[in-house]
Amino acid sequence: MRIGILALQGDFAEHEAMIRRTDGGAGTLLIRRKRDLEVPIDALVLPGGESTTMKKLLVDLGLFEPVRGMILSGLPVYGTCAGLILLAREVEGGEPCFGTMDITVKRNAYGRQLGSFFTTGDFGDMKDVPMTFIRAPYIVRTGGKAVPLASVNGRIVAAREGNQLVTAFHPELNDDLRVYNYFLGKKR
Ligand code: GLN
Repeated sequence: MRIGILALQGDFAEHEAMIRRTDGGAGTLLIRRKRDLEVPIDALVLPGGESTTMKKLLVDLGLFEPVRGMILSGLPVYGTCAGLILLAREVEGGEPCFGTMDITVKRNAYGRQLGSFFTTGDFGDMKDVPMTFIRAPYIVRTGGKAVPLASVNGRIVAAREGNQLVTAFHPELNDDLRVYNYFLGKKR
């Protein structure tokens, strides 16, 4: 199994380290340019970082259309934080990027003081999943086939729609592989 990680900006290295440790292990491929997409991948991670910068780089490097096409063709994709914003169909007060998932997000949604925090919570049927939020968005609305998977203080912070999974928190910053194993369909 080889997992592509968009590596234009943000915390892709931390994702890479975690994915290599998932049950049974998994190979990784950092995606930085169009040529990298010639190598077949089984799934794709869109990391946290700065969504507006990532969007600009995706377009400038000619990655936007091919990556969007791969997502629409059913490639499993996991967006964390900024990656969540990239997948959302609607971004409050902003423009969508891939727009492939029927959710509306609010960026930097917790205000300055509460911009970064740690908590634990239920994620689907998993208990006490560590959740680190850094200037995080939350999901204001899920529509169509998108289903919420986790909420914190009444706000949706994780959701799934078919091949697309998103979390507003950063699982790569805690030592718990369950969300990755869930994404990759491995036992947990
Ligand atoms: N605030 C960032 C954005 O809007 C997301 C933060 C993150 O990925 N940690 O893109």
